[in-house]
Amino acid sequence: MSIENIKTVAVLGAGTMGNGIAHVFARSGFRVILRDVEQRFLDRALETIGKNLEREIKKGKVAEADRAAILGRVKMVTEMTALAEADFAVEAVPESLEIKTRVLCEADSALRPGVILASNTSSISITALAALTSRPERFVGMHFMNPVPVMQLVEVIRGLQTSDETFATTIALCQRLEKKPVAVNDAPGFVSNRVLLPMINEAIFAVMEGVATPESVDAVMKMGMNHPMGPLELADFIGLDVCLDILEVLYKGFGDPKYRACPLLRKYVAAGWLGRKSGKGFYQYDR
Ligand code: NAD
Repeated sequence: MSIENIKTVAVLGAGTMGNGIAHVFARSGFRVILRDVEQRFLDRALETIGKNLEREIKKGKVAEADRAAILGRVKMVTEMTALAEADFAVEAVPESLEIKTRVLCEADSALRPGVILASNTSSISITALAALTSRPERFVGMHFMNPVPVMQLVEVIRGLQTSDETFATTIALCQRLEKKPVAVNDAPGFVSNRVLLPMINEAIFAVMEGVATPESVDAVMKMGMNHPMGPLELADFIGLDVCLDILEVLYKGFGDPKYRACPLLRKYVAAGWLGRKSGKGFYQYDR
């Protein structure tokens, strides 16, 4: 399907990433079919989209006059059959191979044959996910960053089977969303997590070994390297459980001990200290 023919986009999963992805497509004039398993998740997503839109209106990024039209373009559904109307689809369900397998197979059956199916996975092989579907050449990775309405980057990941046309359409679609797509080949952690997670892991080793406190490690990286957030602040923001999962993917995918997760990270996750979302990680948060 070429870019000119894409008018309606299906988004599977209305969580943190799914509601952001729906938001940016609707903001750029696409009709969106946002699908989740229960109405309450869709209600929560609509509320989040409304709040984020409000913030953009206050900042002057979106015109007040456009609010109703943007929200009106998002249709919330629980049934998979609604995907028959979609001209492009993005999957953003939880990072579990079991859930993704089920959802991608169902979506593959519901979507029209020429439609491109993209996954927002942060760590599962695009090549392997593509092989689950009947459209491996029309399967691609579309790795948005959190928070989606704000972050510029989309890593566009080419699986082994992804066709040139699929890849070019996906890059063009990112540009229509006013995002900055970067082309990447399929490999564990793609580029973003392959480079980021070893840095976070090393910062945790430095804390575990008593080299410096979390505050000092973050101060060095913010003031010395001009990073907007320190690696430990960022780890708390991402979720320490998510960081551990990604390190496991890198470790397993490359079989290289340099990706071994720091024992202190394992300990925090075992304690339920998951960062911002649990109220405690390397820092303490008001919940
Ligand atoms: P989340 O848990 O916030 O949201 C997932 C949503 O999917 C939930 O609303 C859940 O109800 C829904 N869901 C579950 N089963 C479903 C099904 N069968 N059909 C439709 N919806 C279903 O997760 P998230 O943080 O938005 O992550 C989604 C994907 O994006 C994951 O692959 C994750 O790795 C990736 N990702 C996350 C981030 C991040 O910072 N959170 C960044 C980049 C990529």
